Amino acid sequence: MAFTPESGDALVVVDVQRDFCPGGSLAVPEGDQVVPVINRLAPRFRTVVTTHDSHPSDHSSFERHGGPWPDHCVEGTPGWELHPDLKVDPHHQVFKGRDRETDGYSGWSPELADFLAHRGTTRVVVVGLALDYCVQATALDARAAGHEVLVLTDATRAVNVNPDDGERALDALRAAGVHEDRAEG
Ligand code: ZN
Repeated sequence: MAFTPESGDALVVVDVQRDFCPGGSLAVPEGDQVVPVINRLAPRFRTVVTTHDSHPSDHSSFERHGGPWPDHCVEGTPGWELHPDLKVDPHHQVFKGRDRETDGYSGWSPELADFLAHRGTTRVVVVGLALDYCVQATALDARAAGHEVLVLTDATRAVNVNPDDGERALDALRAAGVHEDRAEG
């Protein structure tokens, strides 16, 4: 049975950007496959938020600055843009990762918490890329802030630097009390 949003649900679409999709500099396997699922899902929510990984060109998470990742999502570059087929009309946008020294995985912030409170949000539904980093971090922070949180597993994909990282992420989310469902079927 398809997932049905409730009136107090807010959809948080994490980092569905070109660099995280096949052809991008930090491609998540099958990352683009979340796009049609999210396109069908988003219009059913009263509140939609997008997050955007938004790094300076010398960000500390980049390999040439000692970090684990290739250059990605440098603000203003084509790879930073949302996937061109993503059709969402967000009520709020979060630009994260601008601080050079911190990883910027989580899209959660006091500002987002305030926005969701004003929208009457009672549950935070998290989808997007990548399950084992930014989706996980955002969902855990929303949960730590006291929200009911749901991850839709067919609307996210893992990087899987290690083959079971996606499964480990789901385990960590379950352990924190985050729920999971599927958007479709
Ligand atoms: Zn990043």
